[in-house]
Amino acid sequence: MIFTPEQYINASPIQFPYESKTGLIIDEFVGHCKKCHNTVESIKGIVNEYPNCIEFRCAGVCHPCKLITSFHFRYYNDGRILHNKDAGWTEISPKSNWYNKFVNKIKTI
Ligand SMILES: [Zn+2]
Repeated sequence: MIFTPEQYINASPIQFPYESKTGLIIDEFVGHCKKCHNTVESIKGIVNEYPNCIEFRCAGVCHPCKLITSFHFRYYNDGRILHNKDAGWTEISPKSNWYNKFVNKIKTI
């Protein structure tokens, strides 16, 4: 995970759209600032590809807050999205606004 400004500065930018070897395409990552909830910019971090999912350990910056928010997500081939927060992995409900806004942007071949 990326937690400090130094780690963020040293991380590699993640280019979107991101296409995995399994053909999952993620057009865009929409992450929200932990303070003001605006969309963060300049996503950087690490992508790990597994046979059934893609894992993003990344962070983005909110310029008005001068704050870095880190994210840890897994996108499964079957459409599930899991989000790792303090308490562990939780599945993002397909009924949530965030999921609907985001998943329309994910295309599978
Ligand atoms: Zn903010």
